[in-house]
Amino acid sequence: MKVQASAKCREHQILHGRLRADMKVYADTTQRLESCRPEDFQKTYEAAEYARTAFLDAREALRAHVAVHGCEQAMDLLDFLKAIAQ
Ligand SMILES: [Zn+2]
Repeated sequence: MKVQASAKCREHQILHGRLRADMKVYADTTQRLESCRPEDFQKTYEAAEYARTAFLDAREALRAHVAVHGCEQAMDLLDFLKAIAQ
C-alpha cells in the first residue's frame, strides 16, 4: 500500500524522495544536537534549524502538490513524523 500510494504519480515520488532526504538530515542534526560539545552547540543548533527549514519546505511542497493534484499522501511520512515528534 505504501508503494502504491506514491507510485501513482511521478512528481509525488520526486517530492517524497526529497522530503525523505531532508527528514534524514533533520533527524541527524537533531541527534547531533543532543550529543555535541557545549562549544559546538550554537553551530550545531544553526545546522539543525537550517535542516528543519529545508524539511518544512519540502513537506509543504509535497502537501501543495497533493492538494492540487489529488494524489495520495504516502503513509510512511506520517509514521516518520510520529517517530521524530516523540
Ligand atoms: Zn501527484
